[in-house]
Amino acid sequence: MTDAAGRYAPSPSGDLHLGNLRTALIAWACARRAGLGFVMRVEDLDERCRLEYVDSQLSDLAAIGIDWDGDVLFQSERTAAYAEVVDRLLEKDLLYECYCTRADIRDAPRAPHAPPGAYPGTCRDLSASEREAGREKLAPLDRGPALRLRTSGEALTITDRVCGEYTGYIDDFVVRRGDGAYAYNLVAVVDDEHQMVRQVVRADDLLESTPRQVYLQRLLGFESPDYIHVPLVLNTNGQRLAKRDGAVTLGQLHELGWQTAQIFSLISRSLGIESDNGVDFLEQLELDRISREPWVFDPDNPEF
Ligand code: GLU
Repeated sequence: MTDAAGRYAPSPSGDLHLGNLRTALIAWACARRAGLGFVMRVEDLDERCRLEYVDSQLSDLAAIGIDWDGDVLFQSERTAAYAEVVDRLLEKDLLYECYCTRADIRDAPRAPHAPPGAYPGTCRDLSASEREAGREKLAPLDRGPALRLRTSGEALTITDRVCGEYTGYIDDFVVRRGDGAYAYNLVAVVDDEHQMVRQVVRADDLLESTPRQVYLQRLLGFESPDYIHVPLVLNTNGQRLAKRDGAVTLGQLHELGWQTAQIFSLISRSLGIESDNGVDFLEQLELDRISREPWVFDPDNPEF
């Protein structure tokens, strides 16, 4: 892998729905328009992931005209790379073991400037005997300590191409969970660097993760990509579109008799474009025209 790239990084826990396909199309078009490569990464570390969805997701992406460069990267095959970065951070004394349960974190007093949910720093400076007691506390729960990054506990502002400036408070976030699984913020940063990702397009529910990822990139000496967070697609109840909403995947819509070109037009129109194929979409997509408002889709009444 030698070329700067954009990327799409689906989690294979179900078929892609219209919202996912829309984000993937924007990611692909932005990368190709910028003269970047486009790489695919399957984020299959979660226990909900299934091989069958890897196949269906990749074939749906290909069916709507998305092409990618090189082999698909599977996170389940990247454990050694994540372990290496964790070792690097450990050597620099930037990680510490955390023995807190969710309840411990919820009930602990927090610094006045820390937002709700931020880690209160309980395990940051424990003595050797306190750490021993922490491990003993976790043993019956059948898990080990999590590893947290020792951060500066400050705010970090990023500039997103669609959402503008966004400031996040950087708490001591988890890089490896108590069950040994590497955390999303770590693996995303390590893989974006490995795949030479210089442009990240993803749904805006991940905007709040971005300051943490940029913090980690700076710590590791990695270049930060440009970030473009695009709105989610909602159902008519204002909830995030999901498979249970009915006719929302390519397969379900095909079963209802819709052609891929019609589905393409629908997605395009939500972005102010008239196009029923990837080539026209690529030419016409303007980032400045992407609304920050979610697109509301009525799966019971799809109008093409
Ligand atoms: N795997 C995540 C998802 O499917 C995307 C993560 C990312 O783009 O950084 O929502």
